[in-house]
Amino acid sequence: MHFETLAIHDAQAPDPHTGSVTVPVYQTSTFARSGLEYDGGFVYSRIGNPTRQALEATLALLDNGRYGLAFASGAAATMAALHVLKPGDHVVSGIDIYGGTYRIFKELLAPMGITTSYAGGSTTESYVEAVRPETKLIWVESPSNPLMRIADIRALAAFSKERGIILAVDSTFASPYFLRPLDLGADMVIHSTTKYLGGHSDIIGGAVIMNDDALHQSVKTYQAAAGAVPAPWDCWLVMRGLKTLKVRMKEHEANAMHLARFLESHPAVAKVLYPGLSSHPQHILAKSQMSGFGGMLTIEMKGGMEAVRKLISGVKLFLLADSLGGVESLIASPARMTLWALSPEERMKRGCSEGLVRISVGLEHPDDLQADLEQAIEGCG
Ligand code: PLP
Repeated sequence: MHFETLAIHDAQAPDPHTGSVTVPVYQTSTFARSGLEYDGGFVYSRIGNPTRQALEATLALLDNGRYGLAFASGAAATMAALHVLKPGDHVVSGIDIYGGTYRIFKELLAPMGITTSYAGGSTTESYVEAVRPETKLIWVESPSNPLMRIADIRALAAFSKERGIILAVDSTFASPYFLRPLDLGADMVIHSTTKYLGGHSDIIGGAVIMNDDALHQSVKTYQAAAGAVPAPWDCWLVMRGLKTLKVRMKEHEANAMHLARFLESHPAVAKVLYPGLSSHPQHILAKSQMSGFGGMLTIEMKGGMEAVRKLISGVKLFLLADSLGGVESLIASPARMTLWALSPEERMKRGCSEGLVRISVGLEHPDDLQADLEQAIEGCG
């Protein structure tokens, strides 16, 4: 079956009791048992809940995985995926990653004796060079946040398989509509469902999708024991978002491409980082593993932070906000906002200059978005 059909039907059959065409919100903490012997049913909503179960099944289908597990945030999903590591283990991570994930590596894993090295660039070689005998996991964000770098997931998966290393891909920027890392050989996919999957900037959530039984058991045990699970109502909202993921992603992409082309030709803009542009250094690679390029783009303003401030204070439709992937267009300064956890030196080492502006292109009319950027960018050169 096709993506959009799976998103609407497969794991979301009409409610057997009432015929309700949407899965009910099972807003309950606990379930009455039939007797003292466990009968295989639901027991307690931290361990399992029917609304969450329907969401998890849908998430697994859309990423073409066997197992999906939902979490209370993307960060909780990240932590759950990384829980497969033990003291003494080593991680190789892409250097351009979400600041909160960097904080997990530095402030939560390092004190537990789990160390992380960062690949110097986005090439497969730069990941391979950072691998040590004790490396147990490679962490990839593709496209990455905020530099929109693309990792060669097929090549990294082949290498990881050979070395017995787990390949985990944070696929938040692409969404399963444009990228399915498990099909390319990755072991785990992580999403912040807060973003495109929810799609309406109204929930915080996360997910881990995988095929392997042992990995699933480990992440599921962590989910049940640590308990960072989403509430039934939030699960329902993500499920509703998934039903329109295809149509939203196509529009996000069309709008992003429109703005990327406009910005590329603007004299105040030094660089446009969007994998859909043929000027993107990894455009061909992106095309070979993604079915589209998504709705995120990053620009570098020639005038540095001063120009960034002017642009951000000049826009009227684009909201200054940290998140992404919603129907409304958002704008952010990675240096001041999403990468706040990094020192200026750490940011520079990653290639994140003060002049960067990250744009989450929403679903407004592209002409209105362009006109808004056009008037705000005036005089930013
Ligand atoms: N991964 C990426 C790529 C993100 O951009 C974010 C948040 O911005 C996260 C993970 C964390 O997700 P959440 O904010 O839902 O915890």
